Amino acid sequence: MRLANISGRLHLVTPEDQVIDVSMETGGHFSPRIQDCYERWPELRSVAFTLEQWGGTPLADVPPSAFGNPAPQPRQVFAIGLNYAAHAAEAGLAVPADLTVFTKFVSSLAGPHGSIALPPGTVDWEVELVVVVGRGGANIPADTAWNHVAGLSVGQDLSERTCQSSGPSPQYSLAKSFPGFGPIGPLLVTPDGFEDPDSLELGCSINGEEVQRGNTSDMVFPVPEIIARLSQVTPLLPGDVIFTGTPPGVGMGRSPQRFLKPGDELVTWVQGIGGMHHLMR
Ligand code: ZN
Repeated sequence: MRLANISGRLHLVTPEDQVIDVSMETGGHFSPRIQDCYERWPELRSVAFTLEQWGGTPLADVPPSAFGNPAPQPRQVFAIGLNYAAHAAEAGLAVPADLTVFTKFVSSLAGPHGSIALPPGTVDWEVELVVVVGRGGANIPADTAWNHVAGLSVGQDLSERTCQSSGPSPQYSLAKSFPGFGPIGPLLVTPDGFEDPDSLELGCSINGEEVQRGNTSDMVFPVPEIIARLSQVTPLLPGDVIFTGTPPGVGMGRSPQRFLKPGDELVTWVQGIGGMHHLMR
């Protein structure tokens, strides 16, 4: 099953690439707000099975600007640092023995298309697989963790490195939370929509030049392990967002270092989900 936030309303994307307004087609049984659907996830899945048989508007007719973030108001946002060994190496840091966790504050979340204002400093790119929680819980075992995932989406963990490294210890949460620094989208795809949700290619390019390409199978802590370890400390809630870390190829790790500048077009993608396009200004 695939979902989209189109013109601020929950839509189902059918296997035939048509979009259906779930609230409208169920006579208001479901809220038009996409964030609300994670609270009623099993019910939505069963209704979606019927709705998917119906026709709708072609997905191709939806203008890019109409797509919003499929999880725009989570109660908790988690982000995992140094979750690919080759990225830890380019950052000059050791591969962590346990999760390195920070947050991106909710006000930094944004949609999959549009422009992003660059603050002063050194703004870097980080393509990431984003997990949205369906059924929450505490102490979730890794072997059943995928059952707690509503779906997967594409994310960018934009990072202002000067702020990040200015103090005596890294300032990840603040440096990664400028407005627009957490775009997510364009679709949310349920785990059963992938041949293997633990092995997805992902990457990003700047002005057509590929700067990152990796595979989620290289994660130090794969998605089930992230969910297990996070939920040992913090109960997960429906609709929570998890940025799962970035593969190598960020600007900070290059020689010479490279950062985003006004006019750059950043394209970010994950296999089987789609791509996001952002213009830096
Ligand atoms: Zn990151």
